[in-house]
Amino acid sequence: MSFSNHDELEQSLLTCELCQLHKDAIGPTSYNGNVLSPLAIVGEGPGGVEDEYGVPLVGPSGQLLDKALASVGVSRDKIYTTNVIKCRPKNNRTPTIEEGAFCAQNWLDQELSFVRPKIIIALGSVALKYLYRADGRITKDRGQWFDTKYGVAAIATYHPAYLLRLTGKALIKAKWEVFYDLKAAVEKCQALAPDYQFDSVEKPDLLSMYASRRDMRRQN
Ligand code: SF4
Repeated sequence: MSFSNHDELEQSLLTCELCQLHKDAIGPTSYNGNVLSPLAIVGEGPGGVEDEYGVPLVGPSGQLLDKALASVGVSRDKIYTTNVIKCRPKNNRTPTIEEGAFCAQNWLDQELSFVRPKIIIALGSVALKYLYRADGRITKDRGQWFDTKYGVAAIATYHPAYLLRLTGKALIKAKWEVFYDLKAAVEKCQALAPDYQFDSVEKPDLLSMYASRRDMRRQN
């Protein structure tokens, strides 16, 4: 399928039944943030809260991501956030590489062709494997720049869901690594888009913003 603009793509995405994964999810999730942003974050796939609200990274992982982004002067409404895979796999299991590639080739690739970011942050292993290479390893490859098939430079860092599972020194170390990865991404993006404002005075309350979508998804 090909679409003439991002809105058209999103309307179709929200009713996608191209693979079996939609059967165990409330429905496909789309994106949040600014479609015109020079900075895009590509995560793995929706968790329970994201499935409920129909948008990526608004649950506990998203709230941790917001804090990490705030530490480098970025607000979620100023960037574009999406996922490789749009439907939540049963029991919240990690999607396979094949499931991720199938969904992303149908949706993410076109999505990013409309957004045309200047820098991409790959959050976690599934995004790294799709955007970089199938044998990529997040522990080895995070913090390294790589080229994507979109002609856009990308850097990978840990998914916040991984940080939420860590404790003690491992957590402190991983948080610093994420901080430096995000900082590198934002600095590079600022150099490419010097006039763009990455921070907002009023931080968005994403759960309130998407409450009506959640209510609609509950009714369907
Ligand atoms: S996972 Fe992707 S391809 Fe499969 S049904 Fe959901 S949106 Fe469609």
